[in-house]
Amino acid sequence: MVTIRDLMIALSIKNLTKTYSNGNQALKGIDLSVESGDFYALLGPNGAGKTTAIGIVSSLVNKSGGEVEVFGHSIDKELEAAKACIGIVPQEVNLNLWESVGNIVTNQAGYYGLHGKLAKQRVEKYLRALRLWDRRNDVARSLSGGMKRRLMIARALVHEPRLLILDEPTAGVDIEIRRSMWEFLEQINEAGTTIILTTHYLEEAESLCRHIAIIDEGTIIEDAKMSDVLRKLQREVFVLSLTEELLEAPALDGFMTRLRGERELEVEKGPGCDLNDLFVQLNARNIHVSSLRNKANRLEELFMRLVENKQAEADT
Ligand code: ADP
Repeated sequence: MVTIRDLMIALSIKNLTKTYSNGNQALKGIDLSVESGDFYALLGPNGAGKTTAIGIVSSLVNKSGGEVEVFGHSIDKELEAAKACIGIVPQEVNLNLWESVGNIVTNQAGYYGLHGKLAKQRVEKYLRALRLWDRRNDVARSLSGGMKRRLMIARALVHEPRLLILDEPTAGVDIEIRRSMWEFLEQINEAGTTIILTTHYLEEAESLCRHIAIIDEGTIIEDAKMSDVLRKLQREVFVLSLTEELLEAPALDGFMTRLRGERELEVEKGPGCDLNDLFVQLNARNIHVSSLRNKANRLEELFMRLVENKQAEADT
């Protein structure tokens, strides 16, 4: 039975696992909950498991275990109802390149039971919205890369799904097209469509999304509001080696402290605080520091890696 609460949750994933036949464990039991109306980023480096997760939700990939519900419809028990709620824009171009732009979107409308005048109206609406109406009689093969991607978005939207999932929507498209795509996605989100996108562009997730889940090696390592994640990234943690033993961590204004060993103190610095102030307070307590290092945290490490990936891509 679909409850009111289910209607508020666009996508619920519980303990989802996937092991491919070659033994690759792509998902190791992930949990995600996407609220209706949200703009949600699933961020992670290549090979993290993003496409596998999306593939399972859109029933292109069989799961090994766990549960998936789309607006309260289980993909095991009510697959058709679940599918009707979803529009998918895959990472790879999977258009019939010899078919006309108009036919591709019209056929998709037919697949979802839309025919006649309504289908025509919808096809026109979304081809116009994605600036492809003038190309409706051309075969898909004649479109540029960016246009093909826009066509896949029009095709995904023609049945007006409540949840739009885009897998790396702007991978390989130039910056101008990327920005216009972002604007379009923002508009349809404002109009009420829940959007989930996978990306490994930090900037994309940051500009668009209100919620972020970070996946790495088949495990969710962060799942929070974007604002909270960004705030966390601004924090820095230092590990201080002390010349003398301490029995307990000192309470310092503007800093969180934690004793890691008798002579090691972990200090977390908020965005507005400076290190001089830390040392003034330590001096006043007669605590002396012999050395100091930055503590790398997993999230920072992951972000560093993502930035490196991005850089490597830009260089190729
Ligand atoms: P992402 O989309 O985050 O780049 P994927 O979901 O594509 O990650 O891949 C997750 C892991 O599963 C990777 O180790 C990848 O090599 C593996 N994988 C993906 N598809 C298959 C497949 N069809 N058969 C075997 N392993 C796969």
